[in-house]
Amino acid sequence: MELLGKEINDCQCGKTHKLIPEHIIINENALKELPKLAIKSVSGDQTKRKVLILYDIRTLTIAGKRVANEFKEAGWQVFEEMVPDPNEMQVPKCDDKTHAILSAKVPIIDVIIPVGSGVLSDLGKWLAFERKVPFLTFATAASMNGYTSANVAPSINGVKSLVHAVPPYAVVSEPQVLSNAPHEMTVAGLGDVLAKSVSSLDWLLNNLLFNDYYCARSVGLITDIEPLYLEQSHRIATHDPQAIVAMTNALMLTGVAMTMAGTSAPASGGEHLISHSLDIMSAIDGHPHDFHGRQVGVATCMMAALYEKVIQISDSPVLYDPPFEIDKDFWGPVADEVQSKYKEKLPRLHIAKNLLAQPGFWPKVKKQLSTMHRSPDIIRSCLTNANGATNFSNLNINRNRLRLALEHAHQMRARFTVLDLAYIFGIFPNYIDDLIDDWAT
Ligand SMILES: [Zn+2]
Ligand SMILES: [Zn+2]
Repeated sequence: MELLGKEINDCQCGKTHKLIPEHIIINENALKELPKLAIKSVSGDQTKRKVLILYDIRTLTIAGKRVANEFKEAGWQVFEEMVPDPNEMQVPKCDDKTHAILSAKVPIIDVIIPVGSGVLSDLGKWLAFERKVPFLTFATAASMNGYTSANVAPSINGVKSLVHAVPPYAVVSEPQVLSNAPHEMTVAGLGDVLAKSVSSLDWLLNNLLFNDYYCARSVGLITDIEPLYLEQSHRIATHDPQAIVAMTNALMLTGVAMTMAGTSAPASGGEHLISHSLDIMSAIDGHPHDFHGRQVGVATCMMAALYEKVIQISDSPVLYDPPFEIDKDFWGPVADEVQSKYKEKLPRLHIAKNLLAQPGFWPKVKKQLSTMHRSPDIIRSCLTNANGATNFSNLNINRNRLRLALEHAHQMRARFTVLDLAYIFGIFPNYIDDLIDDWAT
């Protein structure tokens, strides 16, 4: 945390890194610090004292009102905007419609303070980026790693999209607020932070196979605090503030690592593709999906097991041609989009197969992967102890739905992951059933 806001010039990866946000503050007094931090975010400019506080009906009472009062007391001109629920059954969404309404309503302001979790944080980030003003987020749940990242993931015309914005100047929260958040949200955050154990392996795999950029330092960013939630996850089940703060810090640093690396690769690999596939299946057939991080957690456990299986493959592996086509019937209305991404990946699949056929290549790759591999037992017991989702029933889906997601997830993005490796080694699709039986049932 002490490196935040600073520049790293001596990284072995060759890049100069700037670690942003400038501040991540989670303590009892964090909320009171917001006006001071906001002044810093506008470089002390006295003429800039108009702040917008963004909240919804829930986060208004959790912290929104208190944040607004704090700014009023500090002499700011305060504008408050409540993002409405679309209907009685739903919470706000980060989509083009909500964004357009907000854009039209919000006057000229100098700083934006979103108070909430994923959706509010993204809406504030998006608006701040468009208005070219700084924003500082008050996080109300440790539910995902997006707070500190530069990206917004809105739904545009009903399709999940990506807007490259900028990270917040600061993220703050209070331990009590985080530990009072709904349990489902906290264990979703745990799933998202655990994903790093397999996503960073996927990133390393791309480096070893294709010589892609890789930065070990950004992977190691959360190593020091990992034991605080990995070994004490039972304390997350009881909402112990100290354990939840440790996990939140890890989530925040995962976002920092993505910005540092200039790619989401350190935090998003095959396990995320499985969760994204489940989301797309929901968009197609209307069956609800679970929280992102809960799906990611279950998938992380399976991908750790898949890596374990892959690492056991002999030094002279038998190789198979990866599938040339995507399953258009499965992807339905998004088939063309999925197809174009998969086409981008096809050359890599062939390069990978050729490299793996070279004598001595696979043993070297395998050795490097195994030094970083974490056993699926650790992931599962961590999720179990925290009382999180560990199987398909917990995610409110049936076995076949998870099976379909596992079988098709490798088709949906250009990024090479362990799922592709599993097809090249001929482990997939046959091993999918065992994987579900052993690690997600
Ligand atoms: Zn680096
Ligand atoms: Zn995630």
